Amino acid sequence: MADASALSGADNRKRVVFLGPPGAGKGTQAERLAAHLGLPRVSTGDILREAIAQGSPLGQQAAPLIEKGQLVPDELLIGIIRERLLAPDCAPGYVLDGFPRTLGQAESFAGMVRGGAAALLVFDVEVPRAELLRRLSGRRWCPACQATYHLDNKPPRVDSTCDQCGARLIQREDDKEESVARRLDVYDQRTAPLREYYETRSRFHHIDGHRPVETVFQDLRRILQERA
Ligand code: ADP
Ligand code: AMP
Repeated sequence: MADASALSGADNRKRVVFLGPPGAGKGTQAERLAAHLGLPRVSTGDILREAIAQGSPLGQQAAPLIEKGQLVPDELLIGIIRERLLAPDCAPGYVLDGFPRTLGQAESFAGMVRGGAAALLVFDVEVPRAELLRRLSGRRWCPACQATYHLDNKPPRVDSTCDQCGARLIQREDDKEESVARRLDVYDQRTAPLREYYETRSRFHHIDGHRPVETVFQDLRRILQERA
């Protein structure tokens, strides 16, 4: 079993957390920020979708929950993240996307990091609900390389085809209307309370996510520069 204390590193490690409802643009911004900082983006949603594609026991357990828009149990997620953050590429830091999503996850995660929640830089991305619905209904996704598109905002160059790997794009099952309503409710009930948790414990920034991708990203870079 991995030793969680090994997750603690030098204090100049960058540990970034993205909070925000489904569709807020966490994945989009986390990917850009991770590339900018030269750190891995760790998306628990991507890890779970990969497990589903491989048909692993984790995938079999997670699939029906994800499809219905429910959360996967904390014990599973905490185990996944503990193992992932011990990988050598996370040694200099990491950008988390989609974790933590419950108070239990946040508390366990704080216990894995030297300095606890105070060592985290947290971006809470806010977007009005009508825009979230528009983004989620138009999101398209590559099951081969996990790239994300949007029918209006970020269409692929060739219809329904991934620019990066040429695979056929799909709509995620959980982006269909029935699941989306459930996911937004689950966010309000289980994840929104994390804002209060981090606001008082971490370096916490509200981000207006209802702006063009590049404008939001410039804001994140400015905040990082100010802290450097
Ligand atoms: P999340 O990871 O928070 O669920 P994504 O990053 O996958 O959100 O973004 C959801 C959808 O909205 C995607 O189709 C993405 O291309 C699009 N999107 C992301 N950020 C913006 C933005 N600032 N403006 C317009 N569309 C966006
Ligand atoms: P995402 O790609 O972040 O939108 O996640 C897709 C789905 O994966 C979520 O709706 C959950 O069912 C599951 N999931 C991802 N991350 C977590 C997490 N931290 N805790 C519980 N479930 C998660």
